[in-house]
Amino acid sequence: MPIYRYYCEECKKEYKMLMSMKDEDPKCPECGKKMVKQLPRIQIKSNTGSSCSSGSCSGCSGCSS
Ligand SMILES: [Zn+2]
Repeated sequence: MPIYRYYCEECKKEYKMLMSMKDEDPKCPECGKKMVKQLPRIQIKSNTGSSCSSGSCSGCSGCSS
């Protein structure tokens, strides 16, 4: 099952939630408000230290500047 990241704007916290087939937005375990689904971050390992193939990530030295 995929793990999604949800952000609670009320608590300013991010939670990782394991989701089933249901596509409902989970509620914050602390305040009970609906959380905002975060887009999955794609991690690209860069061995060269130059820009990665995406050109717009924030994880490598070539794209972050
Ligand atoms: Zn909350």
